[in-house]
Amino acid sequence: MTEHVNSYYAASANQHAPYPTLTEQLECDVCVIGAGYTGLSSALHLVEKGYSVVVLEAARVGFGASGRNGGQIVNSYSRDIDTIEANCPPDQARLLGSMLFEGGQIIRDRIQRYNIQCDLQEGGVFAAETARQLHELKAQQARWQKWGNDKLELLDGDGIREVVASDRYVGGLLDKSGGHIHPLNLALGEAEAIRMQGGRIFEQSAVTSITPGQPALVKTAKGAVKARFVVVAGNAYLGNLVPELAGKSMPCGTQVVATEVLGEERARSLLPQNYCLEDCNYLLDYYRTSGDHRLLYGGGVVYGARDPADIERLIIPKMLKTFPQLADVKVEYTWTGNFLLTLSRLPQFGRIGPNIYYMQGYSGHGVTCTHLAGKLLSEVLSGQAERFDAFAKLPHYPFPGGRLFRIPFTAAGAAWYTLRDRLGV
Ligand SMILES: Cc1cc2nc3c(=O)[nH]c(=O)nc-3n(C[C@H](O)[C@H](O)[C@H](O)COP(=O)(O)OP(=O)(O)OC[C@H]3O[C@@H](n4cnc5c(N)ncnc54)[C@H](O)[C@@H]3O)c2cc1C
Repeated sequence: MTEHVNSYYAASANQHAPYPTLTEQLECDVCVIGAGYTGLSSALHLVEKGYSVVVLEAARVGFGASGRNGGQIVNSYSRDIDTIEANCPPDQARLLGSMLFEGGQIIRDRIQRYNIQCDLQEGGVFAAETARQLHELKAQQARWQKWGNDKLELLDGDGIREVVASDRYVGGLLDKSGGHIHPLNLALGEAEAIRMQGGRIFEQSAVTSITPGQPALVKTAKGAVKARFVVVAGNAYLGNLVPELAGKSMPCGTQVVATEVLGEERARSLLPQNYCLEDCNYLLDYYRTSGDHRLLYGGGVVYGARDPADIERLIIPKMLKTFPQLADVKVEYTWTGNFLLTLSRLPQFGRIGPNIYYMQGYSGHGVTCTHLAGKLLSEVLSGQAERFDAFAKLPHYPFPGGRLFRIPFTAAGAAWYTLRDRLGV
């Protein structure tokens, strides 16, 4: 597994003691595999409800995408509700629509309730480079308003230049209920909250096998856990532990750089209101400033999640296209992380047998939906399956080309969408 190589987040993480490695045989109500947001949110909701929970993490808390991402609290799912409304029965679409903005509220609730220091800033912007993208943002505004988001503002050319000092954009959509956080510190704070409520977390404890049964048996190299329920939350880092999950999704890498400290004045000259921003391209750029006034700029996708040789070469041209005024600025940190793509770009939730659950495949936007996933998991284990099942009923498709050809096939599809973005059609 790739380490947090030169990650700004690892370098600026809040002080925390490591969790032990599992070296014994334990019993519990729920064994959670993976300490990213999906696993942590599940575990925290469960311990709050009184379940005994063991979390097993192969590396460290927040080692995966949850400790490496752009930190953007983006509402909705990676495909918006119009796709769901067009393809799902009305009752299912209604339930999924009613949850569009819940993940962001859960994050804010966690930060407040457990006093998590993770640099929360309110407000996120979707920026349009073409008239077609702006037209789509207007339609998105109407959809989100219909589902109860009254914190949206459409920005014209002048409006977007007030929130970002770049001439790349023709307009945008400001979502004041979006925002940004230091993602690793959020994960570490949630882990600490689980520990405080009696949950047990083990790091360097990769799960090597899951034997179904009542209870199920989850094994690591040095220990084992018998659990009434198992939650598989390894997402893009799960490998082949559960072969039926590996076949219907594809790990993808995306890269981020952090500049040297710019100072508050220069940081605010780029993003005056300190909103985070992502563009509307199929392969999108996303950026924001950090608590210590660096620019964090991400973008690019590597299908199959191989590590790109030179992150700076990939990302710095994108950053300078947006902010040519940063030509003199040094990049101090570069890192990569893996997210899990599904063919529909909608998340995959479900069951393997009666007591093994999984949630994965957020397809690039997962900060909010992972938090929602954990809440829904705690609902389904307490006998309320309706909201979990609204997700579980979404179809899960295998990638065309199978495991051998899915990477070139998907890259060809992405090239087509990128061309459309460039042509503005
Ligand atoms: C660089 C990057 C930028 C992103 N930016 C954004 C953004 O700005 N906004 C947004 O909404 N989304 C963003 N995303 C997506 C988002 O970060 C993810 O969707 C989300 O964090 C997934 O959380 P997770 O808990 O499901 O998976 P992860 O955070 O990847 O956690 C999975 C964990 O499971 C562990 N694991 C795997 N296998 C085993 C095993 N066998 N035994 C034990 N543990 C195991 C791994 O070590 C890992 O810690 C980004 C993703 C990346 C990579």
